[in-house]
Amino acid sequence: MAVVSQRHTRHMMAFHGSGAPQHAILAAATVPYYQTVIPAQDVQPDRPIGYGAFGVVWSVTDPRDGKRVALKKMPNVFQNLISAKRVYRELKMLCMFKHENVLSALDILQPPHIDFFEEIYVVTELMQSDLHKIIVSPQPLTSDHVKVFLYQILRGVKYLHCARILHRDIKPGNLLVNSNCVLKICDFGLARVEEPDETIHLTQEVVTQYYRAPEILMGATHYSSAVDIWSVGCIFAELLGRRILFQAQSPIQQLDLITDLLGTPPLDDMRTACQGAKAHMLRQPPKPPSLTALYTLSSQATHEAVHLLSRMLVFNPEKRISATDALAHPYLEEGRLRYHSCMCKCCHNIPAGRQYTVDFEPVCLHPFSYAFEDELTSTHRVKDKLHKFILEQQQGNRVPLCINPNSVAFKSFASSSVAHPSELPPSPHVWD
Ligand SMILES: [Zn+2]
Repeated sequence: MAVVSQRHTRHMMAFHGSGAPQHAILAAATVPYYQTVIPAQDVQPDRPIGYGAFGVVWSVTDPRDGKRVALKKMPNVFQNLISAKRVYRELKMLCMFKHENVLSALDILQPPHIDFFEEIYVVTELMQSDLHKIIVSPQPLTSDHVKVFLYQILRGVKYLHCARILHRDIKPGNLLVNSNCVLKICDFGLARVEEPDETIHLTQEVVTQYYRAPEILMGATHYSSAVDIWSVGCIFAELLGRRILFQAQSPIQQLDLITDLLGTPPLDDMRTACQGAKAHMLRQPPKPPSLTALYTLSSQATHEAVHLLSRMLVFNPEKRISATDALAHPYLEEGRLRYHSCMCKCCHNIPAGRQYTVDFEPVCLHPFSYAFEDELTSTHRVKDKLHKFILEQQQGNRVPLCINPNSVAFKSFASSSVAHPSELPPSPHVWD
């Protein structure tokens, strides 16, 4: 039996009023609806597919149409104000996103009465794999694969950055891929809105270390969307070389590996670094850049590939290429053509041939507003707002879903927990 079930009682009550017997005349009209469910023997068992710092994800069946979907459990949401606000922000984002290369919420499970409201369950599209699994697998990755993956990553990142959202944890494991090579950026647990005010400090507890931008490693308290482009550059190199580009044991060694490749940066390029980090850099003997090493990543590291890669792996975030400009690079032309010829949902086949969309890389029309966060002054307040927000999202025609505690997998689902701190990336180096 499935973990997710339909909220029968609520649905029936909407039609028959409280306490109406199920054999009441109107019940018959709703029965065929419930019977659209595929036969029990065809339903795959629910199973866990991943977990991280902020949630557990299961592959389950939507009882309304028999489709496989991903169910993310966000436990202990209201433990403290920071965690409650983070979850509210993530949910708002997931419900707002409308882009083929960004994962969005298909549904949120009906919350219990507010007194019992502790966990949140979000349903998203199910993707078969992710870029990390693909990179470490023995399956071949052709130059066409690399181009179409990078194109989609940048297409999604452009959309997020237009919405003024910094993802802050772009890594291969957060780039989901389906069997048709369609890629979606996921996990917005660390995402936040770009902060134009440089005096406002942002947390440094971001981005898995291997993909962490040099300005964050050097203790910058304010950074921009360029941190995501750095991560994309590292992933581009990893796709070419099939190994992590900067695989260090500590944040200091991470910085050393970066300067081995890019050379010691001039002082101007360390404008946002803290004094301790600058002093560390200046104590080291100066290193010359060795960007030609990028040609040795693989035979697919052509001039065009290395040119684009070296525009992403720029030490100074202000000089790093933007997602929009990267998409205009000639290296990505073939990826764009392939994506829109047979993979996208924005272009269509008509009898006369392929009808292409007018905008290959659409922007987000409404920047994400974080004004709502100002009034979130206590966990109690967030709980109340979040509860209302989820109920608002459910005002559609679809039958709401809820957890089925009688299901076979429920016990194991209920006890599945988030990642242990020892499995998380190391914290930033304390410079001063
Ligand atoms: Zn298209």
